[in-house]
Amino acid sequence: MPKATRVLTPEEIEVKRLKQVEATRRWRERHPATPESKARDAQKSRLYREENKEKVSTAAKARRPKTRERDAAQQKAWRENNPERQKRYWQEYRKKNSERNAARDRKNYEANRDAILGQKRRYYLENREECDARKRNHTHRRRAIIRGGSAPATDREVRDFLRAATHCEYCHRPFTRQRRPTLDHFMPLSLQGPHSLENFVAACKPCNSSKGSTHPVLFASKISGLI
Ligand SMILES: [Zn+2]
Repeated sequence: MPKATRVLTPEEIEVKRLKQVEATRRWRERHPATPESKARDAQKSRLYREENKEKVSTAAKARRPKTRERDAAQQKAWRENNPERQKRYWQEYRKKNSERNAARDRKNYEANRDAILGQKRRYYLENREECDARKRNHTHRRRAIIRGGSAPATDREVRDFLRAATHCEYCHRPFTRQRRPTLDHFMPLSLQGPHSLENFVAACKPCNSSKGSTHPVLFASKISGLI
């Protein structure tokens, strides 16, 4: 007859574990660790964890509420002491899990499509100026980069530049609520002009459209001919 064993409560398991930890500590005091013994122990516990994955993770989960703060502090310290390894870890993590994460995002989107779209729509309506500026800046940067130009301007720089603009640089008419400033690139992006503050010109929409991707010198002679 096998001996009837009672299932231990989590508290009893924890008491037992702490006793074991204490016994190990006392034993270690009498038998100081050497580099060889450390490597051997590490190898042993690695093997144990490999062979008892389920058990190890259940036990860790049960301990978590008690060790949460200590673990978080330890992890934070490790991250601060190993920034390079931390960075590499996330790079590898993203690479390894990119398909799984994309599938998860897709599934989440399909399940909550209406809620997600509604949220986006509401955010857009409440922050229209910011969203439009960001979208335009993204388009400009992308175009500049495709054409081989540089694109260091940030959303904020573009927004501040347009907010500060008072009149059209080409026809000199003042900006109003009806005649809003638009962002023109003095050297067009299509001619490798950079998407950067030094290349920004505020123009009214008609001037900006008629300039299009004309070279600035050519456009200057064109408007001086017209005036
Ligand atoms: Zn104008």
